[in-house]
Amino acid sequence: MTRARCGIALHPAGHTLSPLLHRTAYAALGLDAGFEVWDVPAGGLAAALAELGDLTQMCVSLPHKEAALALAREVSEAARAIGAANTLTARAGGLAADNTDWLGVVAALEPHGPWAGKRALVLGAGGAARAVVFALRRLGMQVALVNRTPARAERVARELGARVGSTGEPWELLVNATSVGMSPAADATPLAAALLRPGGLVFDTVYRPLETRLLREARERGLAVQDGLAMLVHQAVEQIRIWSGKRADPELLRRAALDALRSAPR
Ligand code: NAP
Repeated sequence: MTRARCGIALHPAGHTLSPLLHRTAYAALGLDAGFEVWDVPAGGLAAALAELGDLTQMCVSLPHKEAALALAREVSEAARAIGAANTLTARAGGLAADNTDWLGVVAALEPHGPWAGKRALVLGAGGAARAVVFALRRLGMQVALVNRTPARAERVARELGARVGSTGEPWELLVNATSVGMSPAADATPLAAALLRPGGLVFDTVYRPLETRLLREARERGLAVQDGLAMLVHQAVEQIRIWSGKRADPELLRRAALDALRSAPR
């Protein structure tokens, strides 16, 4: 059997933990596979795929998640509903597009559940927010959305069975799916601390830094918190399962990522 060729397409190409996660998993699972980083500018995904030829799996990050859908022969139900794919896998008849981000969200939240019937407030309306809303609806939650650009929130709400909300409304789960608070602008927060009331869980999809200002302020006010690394790890575990059929140990990947974040926090 020939060596599997996997990698990630993104732009700009700095700051991705995906090579570390995938290579750690391949070594532990005994998979004969390499993982490359392809810096692909916006609009260049089709050309990059044509050039690669012998691809096994491409992980797809910003700004290509929507373009990836259009280039696949098969599209999973979740990827179609979310409107974005983070995974392209070579199959006999062509590329198959999947979205594993939402499974990462479910895996990150399930230990804190059950969630059915509870209220979630999601900040953001980009690709991550779409995967988050899809996951929360699958968990049976009532979902409200707030976004800097209201028209985007309206569209996501309409397409994914949520509603447009406001930052002052009550919730049992708050999710930050914006990029606010991400390093190097880690002193920013997407929600004023005064709006963090005890009793709920705050989940930040941002994982660099691991404890964002939002999570720190939530913790200081007695709320439960969940960092974004669990989502990242579990979406990678699922990507690896799709092409290899093998399940990587999430704890092993989390430890590897934590070591990397500690040695290069920015
Ligand atoms: P995106 O499609 O570019 O969306 C960015 C979102 O952030 C939009 O809702 C945008 O609002 C909002 N935003 C950006 N700057 C803002 C500001 N200064 N004030 C208020 N809102 C602002 O990006 P994405 O793919 O959804 O990713 C968003 C974040 O999710 C990433 O930064 C990353 O940290 C996180 N993420 C985590 C994982 C994981 O596995 N943990 C996976 C994917 C993404 P507008 O619509 O108004 O522009």
